[in-house]
Amino acid sequence: MKFYSTNNINHRVSLADAIMKSLPEDNGLYMPESIPALPHSFFENIQHYSFAEIGFEIAKRFLHPDLSLSEIKNITDDAINFPVPIVQLDDQTFILELFHGPTLAFKDVGARFMSRTMALLNKNENKKLTILVATSGDTGSAVANGFYDVDGIEVIILYPSGKVSPLQEKQLTTLGKNITALEIKGTFDDCQRLVKQSFLDQRLNNHYRLSSANSINIARLIPQSFYYVDAYRQLKDKSIPFYYSVPSGNFGNLTAGLIAKKMGLPVSGFIAATNANDTIPNYLKTGNYSAQETIATISNAMDVGNPSNYARMNDFYKSHLAMGEDIVGYTYSDEETRKMMVDTYQNNNYVLDPHGAVGLLGWKEFSEGKNNIQGIILETAHPTKFIDVVTDTLHITPELPPALKAIEHAQKQSVLMENDFSVLKNYLLSR
Ligand SMILES: *Cc1c(COP(=O)(O)O)cnc(C)c1O
Repeated sequence: MKFYSTNNINHRVSLADAIMKSLPEDNGLYMPESIPALPHSFFENIQHYSFAEIGFEIAKRFLHPDLSLSEIKNITDDAINFPVPIVQLDDQTFILELFHGPTLAFKDVGARFMSRTMALLNKNENKKLTILVATSGDTGSAVANGFYDVDGIEVIILYPSGKVSPLQEKQLTTLGKNITALEIKGTFDDCQRLVKQSFLDQRLNNHYRLSSANSINIARLIPQSFYYVDAYRQLKDKSIPFYYSVPSGNFGNLTAGLIAKKMGLPVSGFIAATNANDTIPNYLKTGNYSAQETIATISNAMDVGNPSNYARMNDFYKSHLAMGEDIVGYTYSDEETRKMMVDTYQNNNYVLDPHGAVGLLGWKEFSEGKNNIQGIILETAHPTKFIDVVTDTLHITPELPPALKAIEHAQKQSVLMENDFSVLKNYLLSR
């Protein structure tokens, strides 16, 4: 299959180019030239598939014949090694727990799949591939974990000193092996600037083969469609119309749901639930896309004022009216989010993280007064990833899951560095 740029449908590249380059030069995003359909028989027999097998059925329709079926099978079996259970909250509400992977957020699914696919595409290169990534927390740990111990690839993470949570820092700095953490005396934006400068530097490019493993890489998007289908598999009554409520920031997760729908998943629609960063809900209401300054909220992984994946959503629908037939948008304040966390804890004895709470708010608003529909809320992170907000809101200290307990007392290993490109460059050239 070929991939085109959302800015120029005639600019087509191979699967390998789309994945290794991440972004087209024209600043669009890569899209598959067609969305393959899954056969009816697949959905009729879905009970007989595991999560990893569902992943294989989807992935092979995009990756074959560029990769062989056995290569694709190895990637999906290896990447999809944790479950995404749905937990029933009430008659019509289900929570899809996407946080059972190594870094406890849904980003593990995309990062694990992308890293294994990149490793395969990279295997005939004799020069090591170096992934440079700036992170404000979650992305860095998912990417680092995904590439951990992968042959022929190393990851260098830049993170802002003192600006990630202690547990996030442990996730970034305790892996070792092919993962190096640079603790920059600056902000996330400084880290991002240093990474961009590195990509433009001639001497660094002679010394290293650099790649970015960006969050909008198509190899992260495709696997995110797997869990929409796996959630459907788990629904007991498939005759009742169902919807997904997706707490959204950059809208990669929701776009992956749209891909699953286009492949034939019989979903009735999507709820795009945002925090105060409501660019897409506004677009759905007015038809005007107007990027906003980012507003800081307690669901900070969704603090995005100019969501990249709007380019892909627009490519699918072309107008806000067409988009509005599949997606409704809602926006919520931090106060509403906290209240939903409290209500859910008191009424259902379920601890939501702030992102999942935004998702549940969206479903409650949408389903109000409607009977005979069911909703699947994407719970995008484990509540202990946002333990400060959870403790502050619910006045409880939830127990850490084993993945976090294991690193709680591990030794941090990072290189503390001035926020200065020449310092970074000298360091990289002298390794
Ligand atoms: C990244 C992230 C989101 C937002 O997902 P998008 O695909 O960017 O919309 C939501 N919740 C958590 C916990 C995240 O890490």
